[in-house]
Order: sequence, then C-alpha cells, then structure tokens
Amino acid sequence: MENMNLSKLITEKEIQKRIKEIGASLTDRFRDKEVVAVCVLKGSFMFYSDLIRAIDTEVICDFFGVSSYQNSMHSSGEVKLTLDLSTSLEGKHVLLVEDIVDTGLTMNYLQHMLQTRKPASITSISLLHKPAAKKVDCQLDEVGFEIKDNFVVGYGLDYQGYYRNLPYIAEVGNIN
Ligand code: 5GP
Repeated sequence: MENMNLSKLITEKEIQKRIKEIGASLTDRFRDKEVVAVCVLKGSFMFYSDLIRAIDTEVICDFFGVSSYQNSMHSSGEVKLTLDLSTSLEGKHVLLVEDIVDTGLTMNYLQHMLQTRKPASITSISLLHKPAAKKVDCQLDEVGFEIKDNFVVGYGLDYQGYYRNLPYIAEVGNIN
C-alpha cells in the first residue's frame, strides 16, 4: 500500500452525534410507515448500520451494490450496479442511504432507478456532501456534513479497498 498522508477531518464523536440527530428526525418521519432502508454498498455500510440503529421504528433492511470509482480517486462517470435489492419497493417508503455525494451522478442514477419500482416515497440521506463537485442534480433530504472537494477515507470510505475500518473521516494529503 502506498504511503498516504491522512489528516482527521470529522471525529468519531462528531459522526455519532450527527447520526443521533438524523435518526431522531427519521424516526418522526417514518413512524407507522412501511419502510425499506437501502444501504448503498460498499461505502455506506458503516454509516448505514449506525443510522438504522438510531431509528426507533420498524424498517426492512436491503442492499444495493454500486461501483463508480473503480480504484481511483476520480469518479469514472459511469455507475455500475453490482448487487440488486431483494425486496419489492412498490407502495413502500424508501430510505436511500449513501456515504458521499460528490458529482451527484450515483445518487441521481439510484433515485431514477428506484423511482421505476413505484415506491410511495424516497428519502435520500448522505453522510457527506461535496457541493463544489456537483455535476448532476439530485434530491438530498438530509446530509451529515458538507465538506470541501478533497478525497476522503474512513468510516466506510476507501482508497483501493483500504481505510474503510477507520472510525473517523480523514482527508487524503500527499501520495508518495
Ligand atoms: P458521485 O457519483 O457523486 O460522483 O460519487 C459517489 C460515489 O463515489 C460515492 O458513493 C463514493 O463511493 C465515491 N466517492 C466520492 N467521493 C469520494 C471520496 O472523497 N472518497 C471516497 N473514498 N469515495 C468517494
């Protein structure tokens, strides 16, 4: 693995505090509704698992696999579905959980695809958002943290498969 210069951007404590706030607002929104919480693999697995435990109402869990970066630090501009859901979304309220919205391409693609499955509603959440990197419009109902247009790793986000297990978010500096 190359030597990466990491600087901590968002601490574990800040992440967990924000998740509790988002969880409380989702609990109110989804009470007494039939909800499917969709995890977008791989990057959002850690955020998703903390977030669903902060939602105090019943949810069905399901998983989407998408790939857009393919081992680089720049979006390939092409979204590939690697794993589909196993639950029908018809008439259900969907909670779409992403790790990060960068160009907006992946979120836009997922929202259009989910819409064709006739859900009652789609609520889109992303832990991180880079407003300066936006290329495509997408609806975001709730964002954990807005960050600058720098590559980040940790808390589910990787570089070439590494760093997903960091409990915090770090910015990547020089690559030697
Ligand atoms: P978008 O389609 O919005 O350009 O990018 C979305 C996907 O690209 C995210 O789900 C994530 O997998 C990846 N991505 C975007 N920015 C970053 C980043 O700063 N770090 C990492 N590790 N992945 C990113």
